[in-house]
Amino acid sequence: MKVEEISEPKALLKGEIVIQVKSCGLNHLDIWVRKGGRGAMGTMPHTLGSDTAGTVVAVGEDVCGMETGDEVILNPGISCGRCESCKRGENSECESFGIIGMSRQGTFAELVAVPACNVYPKPAHMSFDEAGAFVLSCLTAWRMLITKGELNPGQTVLINGTGGGVALYALQLAKIAGAETIVTSSSEEKLTRARQIGADYGINYKSEDIAERVRDVTGGRGVDIVIDTVGTSTWETDFSAVRRGGKIVLCGVTSGHKAEINLQQLYWNQLTVMGSTMGSDEDLRQMLKAVNAAKLRPVIDSVRPLDDVREAMNKMEEGRQFGKIVLKVSE
Ligand code: ZN
Repeated sequence: MKVEEISEPKALLKGEIVIQVKSCGLNHLDIWVRKGGRGAMGTMPHTLGSDTAGTVVAVGEDVCGMETGDEVILNPGISCGRCESCKRGENSECESFGIIGMSRQGTFAELVAVPACNVYPKPAHMSFDEAGAFVLSCLTAWRMLITKGELNPGQTVLINGTGGGVALYALQLAKIAGAETIVTSSSEEKLTRARQIGADYGINYKSEDIAERVRDVTGGRGVDIVIDTVGTSTWETDFSAVRRGGKIVLCGVTSGHKAEINLQQLYWNQLTVMGSTMGSDEDLRQMLKAVNAAKLRPVIDSVRPLDDVREAMNKMEEGRQFGKIVLKVSE
């Protein structure tokens, strides 16, 4: 992985625009793509990066309602727009679903050409650094909690491994939705910071038993929804912490992707286990409305120049961040 000069995007395709990138958030997806995850990369050299905020500097044919100078954010999900899933508005279930930065050239660049239909206005209350570190994780958290989890006010959510992007957005969105939140970490510092942004309970899994504490604070009942981005190491606890009839929603496997499941526990307790990844255009529209209304501010770990990309990725890979790590490409 290195920073180098490449040619500018030219010969804009129909329906595409060019964004002058200001800031990009790092995601675990970038690490996965860098390591050559399943079908990850197209042509080499490959530009990483799925999130971005910037201004429109060129508008291709057949793009309406968009002008140069518009301040925008990007939905990195690419779908065919024609299949059954796309037609019912579930474009993240599209057979040919791809992601900018994975199946096509990404955003860690000064200029990036993207389909205009993937672009949305930057939330006015956010800086470019905040807006650039926002869409992918927050959209993922929204779909898990709201679309799939069908979270209601007053319900209790367990969010595993606070500090990562999705886990923190899940915490913030759950608070906006009027839910009670329990977060976990091995770091007291992260738990303290999570409480400062609204976590009702923090569990240190190094010194406490998660399932036991969850039963304690929920009066023996268990949580309504578990949000899991961790995978192997949290899977068993998820099943002990969820209430009868509750939901476990998984979107990531930072600790590994293999796990055992007790099928008796699954059916006897009427549990629902769901996989989720990113979100549809409709999820994004709803999420933006809620985020703008509540003036939700992304939690930023640090902002670094693009040249620091290696160091920034190492920090994320080692789980040392609290919030999003942002690469600043231009002022
Ligand atoms: Zn489709």
